[in-house]
Formats: sequence, structure tokens, C-alpha cells
Amino acid sequence: MEIHIPDYAKAVMNRLNAQGFGCFIVGGCLRDILMDRTPQDWDICTSAKPEQIRDCFADRKTSDVGIRHGTVGVLWDDAWVEVTTYRIDGEYRDGRHPERVVFTEDLRADLARRDFTMNAMAWHPSTGLVDPFRGRNAIAERRISTVGDPKRRFTEDGLRILRALRFASVLGFTIDEKTMEGIEAEKNRLLLLSAERVNGEFTRLIMGDSADEVLCRFSPVLRIVFPEMEETELKKLPANLPIRLSRLFPKGTEAVLRRLRYDRETIRLSSALARLNGLTAPEGKREIKAFLRSEGKETAKLYFAAEGRSSELAEILSSGECWSVSQLSVTGKDLIDNGFSPGPEIGRTLDCLLDRVIAGELENQKESLLSAVRGEKR
Ligand code: ATP
Ligand code: MG
Repeated sequence: MEIHIPDYAKAVMNRLNAQGFGCFIVGGCLRDILMDRTPQDWDICTSAKPEQIRDCFADRKTSDVGIRHGTVGVLWDDAWVEVTTYRIDGEYRDGRHPERVVFTEDLRADLARRDFTMNAMAWHPSTGLVDPFRGRNAIAERRISTVGDPKRRFTEDGLRILRALRFASVLGFTIDEKTMEGIEAEKNRLLLLSAERVNGEFTRLIMGDSADEVLCRFSPVLRIVFPEMEETELKKLPANLPIRLSRLFPKGTEAVLRRLRYDRETIRLSSALARLNGLTAPEGKREIKAFLRSEGKETAKLYFAAEGRSSELAEILSSGECWSVSQLSVTGKDLIDNGFSPGPEIGRTLDCLLDRVIAGELENQKESLLSAVRGEKR
């Protein structure tokens, strides 16, 4: 089997092998390659212990962020590669974290602790594919199956439930019957997870091509952690997070997204869009410019994108027509030079001028604007 991996990943593997350690490409990147998708990141597993990995790459920049779980990040040619010691997870007591991880010499044991068969394969250029759980077959059948008994695997770590749903959405795979039963039986495990872990998987789930099918089929499962979620059709919307969140959580958007630990900007945009969803859409240039002014460019762009009217807005934005105070042909300084005293009056006057420019009563030209304010002063 021919597998192309980037030179930096090859170089990391060569270095480990040269020092006498076993190593394999493993997990999601292998799944992606076998599906002709571009992997997000490259993971290598190895018989080297974390300290040995660090020594092996002493001449390179390394990262210890995941070292407790056996992962050392290695920077090679400007790319980070995650190198993880073969491990088995110790006992799970809380349904989300193994009590401790145990390192092993056994690649197969490392593969057995992984979530789904499609994610539990390893590959090395001389050994070829190591696929004890028939992950390749699962990919060919476009099927998601846990490695081992689904109920047990979901009890160990409830995040796997959301990962199954995320993969179903992103890859368009079906979840096999037993795995499905496991999800339904163990769905309350989702309540034990941290908001951050839930957020990561949920975000990818709602951006997937098959998100609508997954949200519909697994609504009772998702409602456990997202009780506020409303039925909506995501397929017709752009693949944009605030747009999709605003449709899924149209009520109490801000509070819900805060609880789910979204970042401030996502919360701001999603809440603004949710508020706008119920209102009448602006029609015509004047209304659109007034809308731009009150909502700001970023929110307006997303709103028009969601409505499938991006080109209408783009036309106004590129025309250079005035919709903001900063585009007015007069500045606060011009007003002061014309007898206005510094202070809040300046802002109010500029706002007034903008109103009238947008309404088409005044031309956005310095002279006509100044003569309008001189008229008012008198
Ligand atoms: P992607 O990178 O596209 O998100 P991935 O499958 O590579 O998908 P990662 O989070 O990068 O996901 O994890 C890498 C590998 O680690 C997975 O392919 C899987 O083998 C294993 N893994 C990740 N999370 C879990 C988990 N919660 N339980 C068991 N194994 C897991
Ligand atoms: Mg990955």
C-alpha cells in the first residue's frame, strides 16, 4: 500500500527508528489519508518513552504540553508533529479522564484504547498497515464502530459519544447498530464532560455536511447537553459558526453560548444575528446602509450571507457609498474649525449629518455638509 506522508513526518520517524525505537503513523491522519482527505495534523506513536522522545529531538524545539499523557510535540521544518508513547489508559473513575496512563511496548494495546475502528490503525513504511480491528473495512463501508464493547467505551469517556456524532456529520458515515445502542444507553455520560471538550466536538458537528441528519437523528442525545437547541435547517446556511449557532439557539443565545464556553466574538456575533433573525430584512440601498450603520459591517456581512444576499451588500460596500461617520467628508476637526466647541455636540452633529446623507437629503461632500451645519448653527 502506497501512503504519502509529508517529509517532516518522515524525518521524525526516521530519527526515532535510527535511535532504535519503533514508531508508526497513527489515528485520524491515517483514516483521512485512506479516504483521500487532507489530515489536520500528523500523529506518530512510538515505543520511546516521553523522556526518550525529548532526548531524541534535543536539537529541535519540543513541547511538553501533553507530556503527562505521553505526548511530546516536535517542531520539524516549521511543522509540529505529535509524538506519543504507546499507552493504555488506566481505569476511568469519572467518565472523562483515565486515572493514570500506562506506557506499553505493545502497539496493539495502544490501538485497542482508541475510540473507533477507523481511528485505530497504524502504518509504517516497512511494516505497512497494522489494522487489528478492521478499520479499513469500516472506512470502505463508511461505518463508525467502537473498538470493543460500545457501552463500556462510552462509559469510560462520554466524549466518544459526541465524537461519533461529529464523525457521522463530517464524514457522512453511519453509526453501526451496536454503537448506536451504546450511545443511547450511555447518553447521560455527556453531563460529566467539561464545556470545553463538548464545545470542540459540537462546533465541528454543526459544521459538517451531514449535520442536519445527525441533529435530527440524535436530537434526544444532544438535548441532554443542549436542551435549548431548536430545529433548523443548517444545510442551506453558509458554513459559518455564528450564523449556525444563531439559528440553533435563537433564544437566550448569549447565556447559552457563554455556558458552552464560546469565545466573546462568537457570542457577540451569534447574539446579534439571533436578534436580527426575527426582524424584517432591510430592502433597498438606504435601508441597507442604515442597517450597516446600526449593526456594523461584520454582523451585516454574516446576516446577508445567511439570507443568501451577499452580493447586494458587497455592491454597497465596494461602491464607497457612505454609511458610517468615518466615511463622511467632514471630520470633527472640520466642525471645530467651523465654530463648534469640542465635546459631545460634535458626535451628535456628525451622526445627524450621516442620517441625512443616508436618507439622501445631503450629498457627502465637504461643502454641502458644512453649509448644512452652518445653517443649523445660525
Ligand atoms: P481530527 O484530527 O480530524 O479531529 P482525529 O481522529 O485525529 O480527528 P484527534 O483528537 O486528533 O482526532 O485524536 C487522534 C486520535 O486519538 C484519534 O484518531 C483516536 O485514535 C484517538 N482518540 C482521540 N480522542 C479519543 C478518545 N476520546 N477516546 C479514545 N481515543 C481517542
Ligand atoms: Mg487528529
